[in-house]
Amino acid sequence: MVWKSRRSILVNFPQEMAMIDTRIPDYVAALRELIHISSNIVAFTGAGISTESGIPDFRGPKGIWNTQTPIDFRDFVASEEVRRESWRRKFSGEMKLENAAPNAGHLAITSLVEAGKVSHVITQNVDGLHQKSGTPDDQVIELHGNAGYASCLSCGVTLALEPIKSNFLTHGTIPYCVDCGGIVKTATISFGQSMPATEMQKAEAASLNCDLFLAIGSSLVVYPAAGFPKMAKENGARLVIINEQETDLDPFCDLVLHEQIGTTLALAAG
Ligand SMILES: [Zn+2]
Repeated sequence: MVWKSRRSILVNFPQEMAMIDTRIPDYVAALRELIHISSNIVAFTGAGISTESGIPDFRGPKGIWNTQTPIDFRDFVASEEVRRESWRRKFSGEMKLENAAPNAGHLAITSLVEAGKVSHVITQNVDGLHQKSGTPDDQVIELHGNAGYASCLSCGVTLALEPIKSNFLTHGTIPYCVDCGGIVKTATISFGQSMPATEMQKAEAASLNCDLFLAIGSSLVVYPAAGFPKMAKENGARLVIINEQETDLDPFCDLVLHEQIGTTLALAAG
């Protein structure tokens, strides 16, 4: 069967696929069927899912990195001035994280988690919106950390942001660990910082175990994170990409949707 759509490509049409529901767009019906015939799904999310919650992305046309140079981890560790600039950016509110709420895309993924379809959510995002939408902590794998708290780079203790923020805004002081005197940083992974070993192992195991890998809102250019969809596909899972822009992995996919994420996922999961 040949399947064509202006904006979407279905490369390998599964034989088990049932009749397409004509009341919804054909690409949504195709995605819904792939979810239906799968029992162990991994959802992998990038900035694109959270732009629909008002959080700016990094590499898009209005991306943060167009106006701001990322701070390298080595510079952060080496220089108090750089750390001060990093905290200034953090508390300037330009990432719009504090009041961001989950959108239809996060909620659709949570509904698939609750239905026992999605086993793990691997995310490149640091906004915590998967957890806020109701996906349990132990099913979210945060590859780039979480911007909602801080941690000590020496002893690893986690710290709340509020006292750090009020000290910085009121007195201009930057934080050091009260336990060991170490450098404190938001619990995110910066450029030049090594990837978290436990999360990488969990993400690899989930990718190798799944029968359907949904790559959602990621440009799939940041490695090693972007290696997981390829790993899953090569290990026999079906691969679906939902992203506004084309990605390098589009030709390897079973289904590619260049569509709005929230609407598409809500319809497919519903
Ligand atoms: Zn410490």
